[in-house]
Amino acid sequence: MKDLQASAAELYDGSFRPMLVGGTWRGAQSGREMQAINPADGTCLATVPRGDAADVDAAVQAARAAFEGPWARFTPYERQALLLRIAERFEVEWDTLCLSDTLDMGMPIQRTLANQRRVLGMLRFYAGQAVSIHGQTIPNSFPGDIYSSTVREPVGVVGAIIPWNAPIAGSVWKIVPALATGCTMVLKPSEEASLTVLMIARIMQEAGLPDGVLNIVTGTGAEAGAALAEHPGVDKIVFTGSTATGQAIARAATGTLKRVSLELGGKSPVIVCRDADIDKAVPVAAMAVFANSGQICIAGSRLFVAREIHGEFVRRVADYAAALKIGPGIAADTDIGPIISARQAERIEGYLSAGPAEGAEVVTGGGRATGAGLEGGHYFQPTIFGGVTDDMRVAREEIFGPVISAMPFDTLDEVVARANATPYGLAAGVFSTHLGTAHKLAHRLKAGSVWVNMYHAIDPAVPFGGMKMSGYGREGGSEHVEEYLDTKAIWINAD
Ligand code: NAD
Repeated sequence: MKDLQASAAELYDGSFRPMLVGGTWRGAQSGREMQAINPADGTCLATVPRGDAADVDAAVQAARAAFEGPWARFTPYERQALLLRIAERFEVEWDTLCLSDTLDMGMPIQRTLANQRRVLGMLRFYAGQAVSIHGQTIPNSFPGDIYSSTVREPVGVVGAIIPWNAPIAGSVWKIVPALATGCTMVLKPSEEASLTVLMIARIMQEAGLPDGVLNIVTGTGAEAGAALAEHPGVDKIVFTGSTATGQAIARAATGTLKRVSLELGGKSPVIVCRDADIDKAVPVAAMAVFANSGQICIAGSRLFVAREIHGEFVRRVADYAAALKIGPGIAADTDIGPIISARQAERIEGYLSAGPAEGAEVVTGGGRATGAGLEGGHYFQPTIFGGVTDDMRVAREEIFGPVISAMPFDTLDEVVARANATPYGLAAGVFSTHLGTAHKLAHRLKAGSVWVNMYHAIDPAVPFGGMKMSGYGREGGSEHVEEYLDTKAIWINAD
């Protein structure tokens, strides 16, 4: 990539970026706009429409017209070809997409660039899924020539609502099953990070996406998000975000009994057994939280370490954390970028005070990071709390910041019970070189994904999602495609 600062200035100059409704790029019907702020320095990158219920309604109508129009006659092979063309365009535009993402939501550029395999994999995996959808011929109990079979049909107009912490992968993973199955979509990005999602829609349009198949309505959760969740013209809502918002969306969807899939928050445990390979486990356990400044749903923020190695292990994670480079995401050597907003920074500060107030000790970090190059943004030191007990807020609540709560354990039964004693069930990590221990823990932990001697692995072909209050439904693999399909039984009396 050429000089990043120069490219950044060319990409966003503060001007207006419209949203996409029915194939047309336009502003909100109300004429209102909102600012897209660069979290690294607080500057305004661009303005975007502040869409509301009227814009959502127009987008849903456009999506319905496309669903019932030419898009319905696309063969699976044409949908596959479209997805493959989009993948090619993504490959060409990848550096620009990553730069946009880093500017818009702060993720270090080295991390956004590294997501290419996964995102291109999504487009290509779902291109394969598009031509693999089929029903069954089912023998039945009726005498005579009565035949029964099933066909799989796209569920219809899908409303997608996503958070700000991974706009590229987060939006693509919602869009690709819609394109593979023949659904249409109205997608509302987070008000904190809309720009890259608009760029993604433009790339897809240039690759031949028909008008109305994908509509992007930018706006706030209370206005555009709530209107989408309750709109009677939407057949299904797919949501990623906090558990509290997921509950509000599930309630809003009840009125029209639309189907809902929810990918929600977490408070994931990482368990380091006494037989773990410590050299390998230290960096992985650290980055299980500190990657993306802890703003990841799967952050392994409860670090349970076998008592025999607890002191040494936590000290080594602290040394690793202290060496991480904090800075704007656009700097090539930044490990920890800014926090998305002042609101989120205040939330993290609240937990940094709550920990010591409830008796936790600061092993490393503990506050904001300041200094040259950090002006204007909200930066935090990677923090480890020791002396944490299970009842403390820092051990129970999702912080969504670079904060680890470290706790010793004595037996496997004990650590399983403590790890599972949370309303969440999104992910878990296990470090052990003992095959039996690794298997036992992987099977007994109540979480949608369990990683052994690794963390963070998410793949287009492998189901990902939550148990308990981390949500329901799965993204990834054929289970994801099922979420966008309905089954119809067809009976034929051939007598
Ligand atoms: P959030 O719930 O505040 O917002 C998510 C989206 O919902 C945004 O687009 C927002 O505008 C919209 N929204 C807010 N209120 C709404 C309402 N009443 N009706 C409809 N839409 C509404 O979450 P966030 O702060 O953007 O993201 C952080 C949260 O997302 C964390 O809890 C994190 O764990 C979770 N998350 C989960 C996953 C996962 O896959 N499980 C992935 C990423 C983030």
